[in-house]
Amino acid sequence: MSHRIKDLIAIVGLVVALTGSERVLAADDTSLPRVTVLATGGTIAGSGSGGGIGYQAGKVSAQDLIGAVPGIDKLAQISAEQVSSIGSQDMNDTVWFTLARRIDDILGKGEADAIVITHGTDTMEETAFFLANVLKTDRPVVLVGSMRPSTAISADGPANLFEAVKAAASDSAKGRGVLVVLNDTIHAARAVQKTNTTSVQTFLSPNGGPVGFVDPASVGFVQPMPSRAKPYALPAEPSLPRVEIVYAHANMDAAAVEDAVKRGAKGIVLAGVGDGNASKAAIAALANAAKQGVVVIRASRVGSGFVNRNVEVDDDTLGFAVSLDLNPQKARILAQLLIANGVTDPRAVQEAVGRR
Ligand code: GLU
Repeated sequence: MSHRIKDLIAIVGLVVALTGSERVLAADDTSLPRVTVLATGGTIAGSGSGGGIGYQAGKVSAQDLIGAVPGIDKLAQISAEQVSSIGSQDMNDTVWFTLARRIDDILGKGEADAIVITHGTDTMEETAFFLANVLKTDRPVVLVGSMRPSTAISADGPANLFEAVKAAASDSAKGRGVLVVLNDTIHAARAVQKTNTTSVQTFLSPNGGPVGFVDPASVGFVQPMPSRAKPYALPAEPSLPRVEIVYAHANMDAAAVEDAVKRGAKGIVLAGVGDGNASKAAIAALANAAKQGVVVIRASRVGSGFVNRNVEVDDDTLGFAVSLDLNPQKARILAQLLIANGVTDPRAVQEAVGRR
């Protein structure tokens, strides 16, 4: 081969290489995965003044949030929709149903490859668990938030959003269910829990650890692929049955349980002491509620560990289910979905929670 032809081949190769890298850097690179960001509010969209501690959640739009993250356009083709602008302490059935239906619609029609939801951290684990139980998709759905508002010194939102998009856009996230990403860690919806009021390292999965890790360079999963249960159907109206959480404590009487029944609770979750226990008076009131057809699930206020059947409390006789690893707020959501689907028999409720 002559030198001229060799030079020509080298020049063509260089042009192809440059074109390739330019394409990857372009904001509208159609070879990148398509990620839709659904914004709901929360501290990640919070705004205050001058790095101080006061702020209002849900003030910054989805577009502005994404615009504040350098390099995010190299991870995915991003589109954004504002679903709500609320602090997640106000999260409710209407927003949940909107999210579930919109996600199934977007992913079902192939309009995106993955979803990222920006959300307040206070009830993030509840929205994640709700979606994990109702979504029809096996495409990545990642919830993300921040512990500091966008105006704080060292705001953690931009880094968390970058990592959430990176995780959602990764092939390895497919089939992993609904995930939560904050502070370099990836958690499964069932296991994750907010554990600290203010620390940026607040989300933990106390019983099994995170399912994976993400940093600006990589995404990796360290736990086996989960099996997927059939999703629960949602009622037509955005309203789930009333299920109350009753918090146990020393010197507890039957009043909180009896009041819940009087208010029309279809289910009661006990946030019990220790392994899901409560005073004799409270257990008797719960047994009475169960006899009347109220779904009763014993969970624990402790924050980690499993609540097992028939250890200190005779669940078989009293008509209770136990929550195993589900914390009270997640057991409540499962009870709501079960009751909405006509499942109230304690044995069937227990099957749905799981068995050890
Ligand atoms: N209460 C707010 C919320 O959950 C702030 C907590 C946060 O987002 O970190 O939306």
